[in-house]
Amino acid sequence: MSELQNKNSWYDADKAHHIHPFMDPKYFDKNHVRVITRGEGVYIWDAEGNKILDGMAGLWCVNVGYGRQELIDAANEQMKNLAYYNSFFQSSTPTQIELAEKLATITPQGIDHFFYANSGSEANDTVIRMARHYWSIQGKPTKRIFIGRHLGYHGSTLAATSLGGMKGMHDMGGSLLPEFEHIMQPHWYTLGAGLTPEEFGLKAAKALEDKILELGADNVAAFIGEPIQGAGGVIDPPSTYWPEIQRICKKYNILLVADEVICGFGRTGNWFGSDTYNIKPDMMPMAKGLSSGYIPIAAVGFSKEVYSVLAEGGHIAHGYTYSGHPVACAVALANINLMERDGIVEMVRDDTGPYFRKSLQQLADTHPIVGELRGAGLVAGLQLVKDKENKTIFTSEEGAGLICREHCIQHNLIMRMVDQAMVASPPLTITRDEIDEFTEKAKIGLDLTAQHFG
Ligand code: PLP
Repeated sequence: MSELQNKNSWYDADKAHHIHPFMDPKYFDKNHVRVITRGEGVYIWDAEGNKILDGMAGLWCVNVGYGRQELIDAANEQMKNLAYYNSFFQSSTPTQIELAEKLATITPQGIDHFFYANSGSEANDTVIRMARHYWSIQGKPTKRIFIGRHLGYHGSTLAATSLGGMKGMHDMGGSLLPEFEHIMQPHWYTLGAGLTPEEFGLKAAKALEDKILELGADNVAAFIGEPIQGAGGVIDPPSTYWPEIQRICKKYNILLVADEVICGFGRTGNWFGSDTYNIKPDMMPMAKGLSSGYIPIAAVGFSKEVYSVLAEGGHIAHGYTYSGHPVACAVALANINLMERDGIVEMVRDDTGPYFRKSLQQLADTHPIVGELRGAGLVAGLQLVKDKENKTIFTSEEGAGLICREHCIQHNLIMRMVDQAMVASPPLTITRDEIDEFTEKAKIGLDLTAQHFG
């Protein structure tokens, strides 16, 4: 049966048997699922035959674009050689070792040991267990609380949901565990009235100090933040924010965790968001771009100092069957090698990143329903506003974001909607011509949305 003949049975079977993440099942009472069947470069094709510009690189992850033969070959070779072996109990495989060695050369200075997991969520569960273990080894077992941020996103397991600051996720199933706290996000546009961005950056960082003092530094294990908050709407902090956070963590002896799951592997124009913001993390979870999403793999990087304590702490009672799956490690290695060979990070930093930002800045400056452009490199957020001058954001009942997202999809562009902002994170291999196409289509989506409210 051809793809086009298949599609109706896929639509029916999906509705009959498949539960989708982050989805209201009632949507399928009126609509059918969109089935994506193929990808090449920055484009994907659906079962209806539409060629769609994937402005989200899947879920912020297909950094080297679709269909890269090098990654396919790496998986194929490794599967033929050794499809699986584990890293428990003194074993390893060559690709696990070589990937750890490679990661030590590209991660920020000081990060030099790596623990493997399969997803960003598992990486963050690893962070929680290891941080508490780290303090316990040092005779400080009360240092257990994690401080994250409102609208932070760190994954969907029970612990990662608690780390994150998404109220809707906490509410589902009463998922907020004890010993997780959240402070304000550093979003000047919505929260910084009357302050310069620099003043506001210090204020948002002071919320961490206040929270530590409220809880008692002896009870706090770590602060966790994404260098740029991704799923919370691509919120890039003012320049004063991260240096002040770093200072506060040091002053109160709190571990600093930079969640690099979105920002890592070139997204912000450097290998890591921590490089872009000069953050010196103690622990660094990463996933997504590590394999460009070709295969599930994640890792947590540890600083020399943190690892030296863990190394003295005895048995590490933690691990996943697929920690360092040899096929996933082979694909991740091939992905990093390809990024280095093609100078992809430099291209984002020096060429396509600035070009993308310039195009979107023009849109933000001139479009009546865009309030601000956020982000860095090839990750961007466009805030939708009904009153540009007074910075009045559309309400979720008005649903401008959803309307805009639908118009974009109708014009074969995938952008995502977060809290009445349109966000984008295209493959890092996007060319200038493809950026032009992206911007034209995004403008059509915005124009039609503006007309809807006009
Ligand atoms: N951390 C951040 C910053 C993320 O954006 C995500 C996913 O979007 C995660 C963690 C969770 O990763 P995963 O979905 O692979 O569990």
